Amino acid sequence: MDKLETMWEASKEYLRRMLISMVRDIDLAEDILQETYLSASNGLSGYRGDNAQAWLSTIARRCAFAHLRKAYTKAETPLPPDEECAVDCPMGSYTHLETMLVRKALQDLSPVLRETLLLKHYGGMNYPEIAAHLGCPVGTAKRRVWTAIRQLRSMLNLTTKEMRKMTCPDTRLLDYTYGILSGRDREKLEEHLRSCESCRILVDDARRVMADLDSVRDYESYTDITEIHTDGTSTTYSCRRVDNKSSEPITKTEWCSMDYHTLKNVFVGGEEIPFEIAKSDVPNERHYIARLPKPLAPGGSIVSFVVFTTPPGIGAAFDIGYGRWVAVPDNSGTDSADHMLVQMVVLPEGARLIGAIPEPQETRTGSRSTLVWKRVIPSGGEARERPVVVYML
Ligand SMILES: [Zn+2]
Repeated sequence: MDKLETMWEASKEYLRRMLISMVRDIDLAEDILQETYLSASNGLSGYRGDNAQAWLSTIARRCAFAHLRKAYTKAETPLPPDEECAVDCPMGSYTHLETMLVRKALQDLSPVLRETLLLKHYGGMNYPEIAAHLGCPVGTAKRRVWTAIRQLRSMLNLTTKEMRKMTCPDTRLLDYTYGILSGRDREKLEEHLRSCESCRILVDDARRVMADLDSVRDYESYTDITEIHTDGTSTTYSCRRVDNKSSEPITKTEWCSMDYHTLKNVFVGGEEIPFEIAKSDVPNERHYIARLPKPLAPGGSIVSFVVFTTPPGIGAAFDIGYGRWVAVPDNSGTDSADHMLVQMVVLPEGARLIGAIPEPQETRTGSRSTLVWKRVIPSGGEARERPVVVYML
């Protein structure tokens, strides 16, 4: 057991970052980290004594994929990401072309339908939350999601079979497809599906649309997590998309940040990729280059996850006296397409939340408080207004 403790202490922080990059949720990553430890202690006899971090990473990835698969199954979408493939290509079995088609179709939806769908499908909001967010009735939010799915279905040519007559206009079909219909309602609908072919076709098609949406989830949804520590330093976990808009394959990605940030890791699909600091001509700026795991074809994109730390007083956390602190999390750059930004701020242990503007959609309180904001960044919009959190230490 002592052997595992030593290995664990040396790799724990790295595994934690890797898991956050995979599941994009700091609390879930913590749970999977615990599972990884248990799994490693049970399998210690199988450890061959070589690279401990690599061995533990494999176990952690397996635990993370089991969770991701469970999340997919819960939504009743038939897309369990293949374990081996998902490490290599984050889009599962989808080709670049298919991914591009889905993204194009999403962009062809009207802004109001796209926004509603992004909040539901990528933001994981329920209908009352969407309705409150958009200032519309719950029924309207539901109808918009359903209309968006039906439009995507024809844009993506997903019709499994032509329908002979008009389908029953019922948003319960959508609830059923999302797996949120239960009890007697569910039984009644299943009974109806047995006799109504049109509805059956529609449910099948909606499932395929959802599987397609899942396949581009990473490309449409950004996550920024700012974890604030008691000493005022912060760690930021930031998702960024790399698009190849040139006509040649690209093999590396470059970006800049202020020099007070320290870049710790860059991950693609749960695998760490090496980076270098390059010379920058701009004062107070740092220039980074990361080699991609494999060349990125023209028109393609990948999602990378970077982890950096920031000293106190800059960026995330300011001491404003009387034990009070203000946090203003950094948020990642946006690009021209509408996308979903999920932003989380994790307060230091023992901190007491005083207030946050705008109000978070979700506040979790465990040993540390986590505040979550979900919003759709409009096309070309600067959308730089950042949450401000006041807390007491
Ligand atoms: Zn029907």
